[in-house]
Parts: sequence; structure tokens; C-alpha cells
Amino acid sequence: MSDKTYPVSEETQARALVDQATYDTWYRESVENPDAFWGEHGKRIDWSKPYTKVKNTSFTGDVSIKWFEDGQTNVSFNCIDRHLETRGDQVAIIFEGDNPYIDKKITYRELHQHVCRLANVMKAQGVGKGDRVTIYMPMIPEAAYAMLACARIGAVHSVVFGGFSPDALAGRLVDCASTFIVTCDEGMRGGKPIPLKDNTDKAVEIAAKNGIDVKTVLVVRRTGGKITWADGRDVWYHTATQAADAACEPVAMNAEDPLFILYTSGSTGKPKGVLHTTGGYLVYVAMSHEYVFDYHPGDIYWCTADVGWVTGHSYIVYGPLANGATTLMFEGVPNHPDQGRFWEIIDKHQVNIFYTAPTAIRSLMGAGDAYVTRSSRKSLRILGTVGEPINPEAWQWYHDVVGDGRCPVVDTWWQTETGGHMITPLPGATALKPGSATLPFFGIRPELVDNEGNVLEGAADGNLCIADSWPGQMRTVYGDHERFIQTYFSTYKGKYFTGDGCKRDADGYYWITGRVDDVLNVSGHRMGTAEVESALVSHDAVSEAAVVGYPHDIKGQGIYCYVTLMSGREGSDDLRKALVAHVRNEIGPIASPDKIQFAPGLPKTRSGKIMRRILRKIAEDDFGALGDISTLADPGVVDDLVANRQNKK
Ligand code: ATP
Ligand code: MG
Repeated sequence: MSDKTYPVSEETQARALVDQATYDTWYRESVENPDAFWGEHGKRIDWSKPYTKVKNTSFTGDVSIKWFEDGQTNVSFNCIDRHLETRGDQVAIIFEGDNPYIDKKITYRELHQHVCRLANVMKAQGVGKGDRVTIYMPMIPEAAYAMLACARIGAVHSVVFGGFSPDALAGRLVDCASTFIVTCDEGMRGGKPIPLKDNTDKAVEIAAKNGIDVKTVLVVRRTGGKITWADGRDVWYHTATQAADAACEPVAMNAEDPLFILYTSGSTGKPKGVLHTTGGYLVYVAMSHEYVFDYHPGDIYWCTADVGWVTGHSYIVYGPLANGATTLMFEGVPNHPDQGRFWEIIDKHQVNIFYTAPTAIRSLMGAGDAYVTRSSRKSLRILGTVGEPINPEAWQWYHDVVGDGRCPVVDTWWQTETGGHMITPLPGATALKPGSATLPFFGIRPELVDNEGNVLEGAADGNLCIADSWPGQMRTVYGDHERFIQTYFSTYKGKYFTGDGCKRDADGYYWITGRVDDVLNVSGHRMGTAEVESALVSHDAVSEAAVVGYPHDIKGQGIYCYVTLMSGREGSDDLRKALVAHVRNEIGPIASPDKIQFAPGLPKTRSGKIMRRILRKIAEDDFGALGDISTLADPGVVDDLVANRQNKK
């Protein structure tokens, strides 16, 4: 843990929506009287029928979670129509292409027309309330139109990341019995076409063998590349939407009607179909988007996630648009045409709020400062991170180099399951500590428990649970409520268990230490893999590190480190020794790595998270059983890791 603290600067304080006193008061109200607190804040969205009930939730028995249950609203209305009068001509979406010469701005009025036309096309194709629509798209505005069109007519979307294989897509089609797909001919990433339509064709075939007959594939023309066409099933998006009416009434939805299904990233096992509903979700993501990013009208906001992840759902599409913000969608990758792309885009569009992942930060840090410092970045005001624990080294670089030391870094801890931010700083209210997600958001009651479920008080290290419900919480695992109860509510009775380990320091700050499954126990000492990784990455030869435990005769568990070096550095036994010494020095002898394997690449999910379960298997020399690797970004790295393993039996 880093012992540095960054107090809120006067400049940030002066324009912040929430200062420390407000945070303290609101937080207390939110946990002492959730009905009153959320009853008030629920009004931030428009309801066609106002709610009279606020919270009706239980974490025991059958586990039932309902918020604003007798209210009616429509998410698409809240994200579009209600802004038309005041900001119809304001830009809603800035599209920045993979190719730096391509961009496009879509106003709220244009957004309204696109979404209405598409909603009418869907209706004409027989899609109705409750039907599941699969969206398999690159990062182009039509992906957002499709999500909003579903919301408008009450269809439930399941966005499948455009980088997934036909198998992964088919699995998700079958899991939620979805027979309508929106896709595109090809995506473009880093100058290379991605064959989305081809993949879709293959997935449709696989789904058919598993009992799901896809009726319609709506195809956006992005590249004009060659594709095969199934008459009667495939429909061009542009012809269908041109012919459709540009007006479509939003359907009144009950607060608890499903909005979307989204499969978790699969870092720890088979992905779960997380179901989110309408009212509480929208209230929660809109509110957290505004306060966590200290969003002010007119700000240009950019979240680099893909719409295929929950971050894209909550903080590219729904939260920002519900707030009438300008949200940037980037089609490409951080290193095309070169590693300075992010910082160029920030200057080009004068981005004020920038939200990305530690994996991107670490890799751009590895590329060297010159890519950053050649840009101005003067427009930046707030920086954010999400997805994994951020090691203090990367935090510091992000803060000092990217933000020139001016911009608070909000390290937001949350999950697909939680819908929105859970533990996070608020820029005007929270002093920052590099590597800590800091304090709970409104309404969130974190608890640390030991393995027996005893609640730990004060400074402590334990399993992170949430004691009570919040409006953005998932409601069930689609089609498998039992799995929902088993996964989240059975380990510690009456609490939502996050699966993450966490420390709380004497100031009440939370430090996520990684998945509980990843905690090391070396000679009786518990430590998070994240701690050892941070120590390794703080060595100047190391760009990334992943640490796992393996059975060790004497110590119980040994420490096995996979290390990716900075470009230009070579692995050697001397460097191994230097790294061991470095970790001993940073943490202590107890954390001495037993094995160090130099790895040109680490096995990551498509969202950039390291799949430690694969690394654990390789470290245990048990690579015959790697489990579900369908969400792995580059299966090729596994072969290299296996070939160079340091623990051959
Ligand atoms: P699966 O549940 O299928 O194994 P996943 O947990 O990777 O996949 P997500 O919901 O995308 O799926 O990720 C949530 C997890 O990411 C959290 O439980 C936590 O481990 C990690 N995480 C996210 N943000 C942070 C953060 N700011 N600090 C530390 N860890 C984070
Ligand atoms: Mg998870």
C-alpha cells in the first residue's frame, strides 16, 4: 500500500458538485434511511408513472430485489427525448474512427431519429417487449442506437463483445434464446478488418444445432467488405432504417422490467448472464456518472471501454446520455497508428473527463512518456480507472504524466453485477491514496468478513461483502435464479459476496487486493497477488506482472511470478535475482518470489484482465485442464507460457 495522500485541490473543490461535508451527510442518510434517500434521488429520471414504493429487497431466502417497483419509465426516453427541448442540437455522441481521419458527431435530435427508425425496424420484424436481441458490434454509434432502440420498445439486449469468437457468440445466443441479431459486415480495429458477419453466420449455425433458430440478422455496412448473404434472414440496416418512420413512441416499462442481459468477462469461470432492470439501474448509473466524474453540462466525456462490457453500458451509453452529456465512442485501439493515440484524441476533441483501465495505462506507460508529452492534454480535468486493482506505480504515472499532476484520479471499484460504481473517490470530496478505491458511494455498505463470516471492524483484511441492496444491483442470473443465490448470497448468509479480497486501513479506506481465490498464503502469511505484482511492476525493467500461488512442500504456497519486460529489456538469471531482491526490499522476505517466468504476453480476457486461473494451472504443471478459455483474447500466448514453464514435474 502506498502511504501518499493527495488532498482535494482548491481548484477541484471550487467547482465540485459534492464536497466532503455533503458526501458525509448524504452518505449517512443513504445508509440510515435508504427509502428517503433514494426516494428523493430517484426523481433525477423522468417517470411516466411516479413510484410510491422505493426499496423492497431481501438478501435471504429466495433473494428478491425490487426498487421503485410500482413506477413506470422508459430508459430511451430518459436518455434522448427529455433532452430534445433544451439540448436537441447538442452533440450526444462523438464518434472517433479507428482511422484518425474519420470522425462524426451525432446530436441528440439525430440520435432520436436513428433510434426511432431502428426501433420501428425491430417492431416490423416482430421484436416485442421482453424479446432478447443480441448486439454483436464494433464500437460504432449504431451499437448505441441498437441498445437504445431495444430499451425504447422493451426488448432486452444482450451485447456480445465484437472480439468474441463464433463459439462464444453462439453460447450467448443459446443461453438467452435470442433470435434477432444486430451486427455489421466488418469491424475495424488497428487498421485490420474483423469479420463480424462471417462470425455471426458461423454462430447462427452452431446455435441452430443447439435448438435456437435465428430469424433475423440486421447488418450495418461499415467497411463494405465481402460477406455472404442469407436471403430471408439477413437484412441491410441502411435500407431498412431509411424506409422506417422517424417517430416511435417509447413503451412504458415497469421499473423492474428487464433492460439487459450481460455476460461477465469470465475471469474466474463460465460467464454468468447478469440481468439488470430498468428504473433502479438508470437512477444509479446516472447519479454515479454525474458525481464520480464531477460531470458538468458541456463537459466532453470519454470512456475507452467497449460497449461489450458493463463499463460501456453504464458509462458510455446509459449514465452519460441520461445526464444529457457528450460521450465519445472510440472505434480503435490505443496503439494505432501509434501509442500516442489516446492523448491525440483527448486534444482533438478537447476531452475533459477520461476513463480507462489499468491494463491500458500500464501498457502505455511501458511505451515511454514521449508519446504522452507530445500532446497538450490541457482540457483534462478528471481521470478515472476501472477493471482491476491499479498498482500505485501506474496510478502515479497516470496522475503525474497523463494528468500533469492536476487531475484527480478516480479509481472505481465495481462489477458487472453491481451495475455501477461501488467504492470510489468523488473528486471534490475524497483525498486520494494511490492504489486505493477509497470510500463507498452513496447507499453502499461494504463489510469485510473473515472466512467464518464474522464481520471485521476497523482496520482489517478480509472478504468484501455488501450488507444491503442498492438500486443498480443485478436482479438475477438470466434463467437461473438458483445460481444467483448460490454464487452471491450463500457464502456469507444475508450478504452479497463480491468474490474480492479487500483491506480497510485506519482511515476507513478500502484497498481491493484481488479475487479471494487469488490470495496467497505463504507460511501462514496472507497476501494479495496484487501486492506482489505492484512490487514487481515498480522495478524499471518490468512492464506487467501476474502472480499466482502453487503448492509448496515447506511454505504451503510458493510464489510464482509471470513477468513481461519493458520493450528492449531481456530476461536473464541476473535479472531474476534482481527482481527477487527488489520484491524482498519492497514488501519483505516473506514475499520473495520462488519462480520467475519471463513471458512476452499474459493470458488476458478480451477486457484486458489477466486470467490467473490459467496461470495457476501452468504454475502447478497441470495445463491439461485449463478450463473455459473461450473469453481469452489471444489463445496463442498459452503455448508460449506452457513451453517456458518453470515448474516442470
Ligand atoms: P467473472 O465474474 O466472469 O469471473 P470478472 O469478475 O472479470 O469476470 P467483471 O464484472 O468485468 O467480470 O469484473 C469485476 C471485477 O473486476 C471485480 O470483482 C474486481 O475483481 C475487478 N475490479 C474492477 N474494478 C476494480 C478496481 N477499481 N480495483 C480493483 N479491482 C477491480
Ligand atoms: Mg466477477
